[in-house]
Amino acid sequence: MTVLSTARRALDSGPLCDACLGRLVADRSFGLTNRERGRSLRVAVALEDDEPVGDLEPDGPCWVCEDESDRYEEWADRAVHALGPYEFDTYQTGTKVPPLLEENDRLLREEVGLEPDAGEPLKSEINREVGKRLGAETDTEVDFQRPDVLVLLDLATDELEVQVNSAFVYGRYRKLERDIPQTKWPCNDCGGTGLKRGDTCEGCGGSGYRYDESVEQLTAPVVLDAMDGEEAVFHGAGREDVDALMLESGRPFVIEIKEPRTRDVDPDDLEAEVNEFADGKVEVEGLRLATHDMVERVKELDANKTYRMDVAFDDPVSEDAFADALAELDGATIYQDTPQRVTHRRADVTRTREVYDIDGTLEGDTEAELEINGEGGLYVKELVSGDEGRTEPSLAGLLDTGAVVTALDVIDVEGEDEPFARPEFFRNDDAE
Ligand SMILES: [Zn+2]
Ligand SMILES: [Zn+2]
Repeated sequence: MTVLSTARRALDSGPLCDACLGRLVADRSFGLTNRERGRSLRVAVALEDDEPVGDLEPDGPCWVCEDESDRYEEWADRAVHALGPYEFDTYQTGTKVPPLLEENDRLLREEVGLEPDAGEPLKSEINREVGKRLGAETDTEVDFQRPDVLVLLDLATDELEVQVNSAFVYGRYRKLERDIPQTKWPCNDCGGTGLKRGDTCEGCGGSGYRYDESVEQLTAPVVLDAMDGEEAVFHGAGREDVDALMLESGRPFVIEIKEPRTRDVDPDDLEAEVNEFADGKVEVEGLRLATHDMVERVKELDANKTYRMDVAFDDPVSEDAFADALAELDGATIYQDTPQRVTHRRADVTRTREVYDIDGTLEGDTEAELEINGEGGLYVKELVSGDEGRTEPSLAGLLDTGAVVTALDVIDVEGEDEPFARPEFFRNDDAE
């Protein structure tokens, strides 16, 4: 069957628009729109039959698409309008086609003797044609993976819906004051309401939070404001204890902004604004616009941590004993039952973690300073105290005296096998 005889049969089926005619052979002659294909076929049939040009219009509304193919401009205009408040670089369009119209596509193919799925369905034609116009109008690109915005057309209800995907900012933070949790910590006494039996909750003074500030609260509002979004979510690459500082190279994090109206913020300006807002309690550095994959990366990438800590012993410890104990722990595999301080939150399991490196200095005979680089998940407070025999070996066990961490700082968080910050996880590869 030639293309021309297919066209002839299709035109005999009833009034048919150029786009629906062209869609039948959408896989032919790359570089034409379906409307152009359909028009060309109609002209070719007219030439062969030596019919007047005036008869080239279908004599009524298209029975297959019910003239939906004439509405691309209208939908695109509506999409541009709906997306007006939002800045975006990439889009995707989706169309809900009523079952009746899908059935018409099938009937037409049956009538002209083609496979039921020959050519292109109405849905993908509309997605592409509306998208093309939207892209041209807004100078943006289609992205089938993870667009900034999604436009959904519903032909049956005539509704157009816009979904705006989150924007992401990656960076590393330092926490320079103790007793700041990483994220908001709702008060246990009042469940975060700030009220108890109608009165101000005594547990939190009515704030609803156990701590007044968190790394999240000291950073995310600035990003939320700059990107003019609806909500901010803080994602950290693990978290230090509330009473631990996070120093030196800091800890990777991503701030996710939901439904941002602005995406192209200057990361350097943002960094300066966050640091001013956080007022020396928290500092961020290396801010960059990231892709959504960066969230999973900071949450899932295996990382090792470096800690600095002050330790106090119950009994005097000799230089030799101290040096021997550190030599024992250097490179050792540590067996740890879930620490008593977290057993109410996690299942009690025994796990093994490695100490990659440990160094220390005795200060007097009952105090020491330690620096430990260990595998992610190593409980370092318990490595020192032994947690009543639940961690083996431990510094306390090796020295045969009580040992406790009196101050703990995290000084580095690095990916175990590769760095967190790889180019493919950033939006603008030219940044930095
Ligand atoms: Zn049509
Ligand atoms: Zn409370």
